[in-house]
Amino acid sequence: RGPVHVIGGGLAGSEAAWQLARRGVSVVLHEMRPERGTDAHKTDDLAELVCSNSFRSDDAQNNAVGVLHAEMRRLGSLIMACADRHQIPAGGALAVDRDGFSAAVTEAIASRPEITVERGEIAGLPPEDWDSVIVATGPLTSPALAEAIRARTDERALAFFDAIAPIVHFDSIDMDVCWFQSRYDKAGPGGTGADYINCPMDKEQYEAFVAALIASDTVPFREFENTPYFDGCLPIEVMAARGPETLRHGPMKPMGLTNAHNPTVKPYAVVQLRQDNALGTLFNMVGFQTKTRHGEQTRLFRMIPGLEKAEFARLGGLHRNTYLNSPKLLDTTLRLRAEPRLRFAGQITGCEGYVESSAMGLMAGLFAAAEQRGETPALPPATTAHGALLNHITGGHIETVEAGPRSFQPMNINFGLFPPLDANPTRDAEGNRLRGTQKTVAKKQVMAARALKDMDDWAARHADPSREAAA
Ligand code: FAD
Repeated sequence: RGPVHVIGGGLAGSEAAWQLARRGVSVVLHEMRPERGTDAHKTDDLAELVCSNSFRSDDAQNNAVGVLHAEMRRLGSLIMACADRHQIPAGGALAVDRDGFSAAVTEAIASRPEITVERGEIAGLPPEDWDSVIVATGPLTSPALAEAIRARTDERALAFFDAIAPIVHFDSIDMDVCWFQSRYDKAGPGGTGADYINCPMDKEQYEAFVAALIASDTVPFREFENTPYFDGCLPIEVMAARGPETLRHGPMKPMGLTNAHNPTVKPYAVVQLRQDNALGTLFNMVGFQTKTRHGEQTRLFRMIPGLEKAEFARLGGLHRNTYLNSPKLLDTTLRLRAEPRLRFAGQITGCEGYVESSAMGLMAGLFAAAEQRGETPALPPATTAHGALLNHITGGHIETVEAGPRSFQPMNINFGLFPPLDANPTRDAEGNRLRGTQKTVAKKQVMAARALKDMDDWAARHADPSREAAA
């Protein structure tokens, strides 16, 4: 077989190339910089960090991204090895010296005889005689390649603008206040007629909420994001500023909804949440894309009846992005269903963040390496952070509790993506009954331990490069 061509020498592409090389597979890594730049990258180095220098929490006992770090280390990740080597003090977070980090990745890739780095843009679909390709061109994929992918996938757009609505953990929503119902009880494709969670507001609550929105502090667009707002995804604070009734006639309209807890009183406005993941553990706030600052969002959205104690899996935002509608377009090993020689990795698959993008590069590298050996790639268990993230992206190799239309939004790893525990912990190690937030903490700890154990078992069977090379 010919080499695997990896397009994009960012976080995901570098990790994928490394995993392939470790398994003795020849790789050509195509990076367009410095020949062609992006609006955010500043250097020629591989794996450049375009913004913050943090890989977020390194706590593998309590934090989902910490679990992902730990799993990646178990899988021999280049990105994690270089991050660990160039770590700088940042409390419980893993922050790195960005120049040292990227230089280390660049040197490590250059040191591998299996990898050839070719500088230059791939300005369209790769040549047909490249029979194994990993596309890892990230959120700022060059326009020529993005357009070719869009045309090949027959999608209307590759979501060039990321309208992010906040996502809430279901178990933090007060269902004594909220109720399940679709507008006019309509059951769309795959729906039940009770697919949305509804939060009711009276006139006073609505007016206070709108006033708070208008007064909120927003994040300015970065220079390169000077795209005008799409009409269909205006930030809520922009809508609110257009007039006090705008939201009530837009995403907060109360029509076709009856408060199950109080059927005789018509809500003045309603905030709706739609199921966000197949497991039904996360719900997104419909039409609530916003550029208000993150601290403000928590305060504002907890003003909504039923969300007073909401825990957010992610907060809202609006920025330029390029990602596939992966649950529809990709198979479980990240290959384009319509053209399986093309595999995708990194942020373009619809994950978000340095660590997640690298992790999906790692998986793409393992899957492509297995194929080069003529084997069927093995999927990590859904209970691991890698499996949970893959499952979110590809739409699933685990049993789902599908309850209605599902929107696909890029997301960081979080415990809401993991399958629930068979039984939630109720007592601590000393046998004392757990209360309030102690229960949530204990649940996360059990999920984290389960993930690491399952990853150890899986890695020993499916991701040992020495055994694979021998095979
Ligand atoms: P990238 O790291 O962007 O790598 C893609 C590579 O492909 C680039 O080197 C690019 O030059 C190359 N390329 C593109 N098109 C072509 C082509 N046609 N041919 C050849 N090469 C090509 N995440 C965080 O965790 N923290 C943050 O603070 C953060 N801030 C961000 C700020 C901005 C402005 C953006 C856009 C994203 C930010 N992200 C952040 C997300 C972060 O960029 C990504 O998570 C991560 O870099 C994506 O990794 P990737 O490998 O998918 O893409």
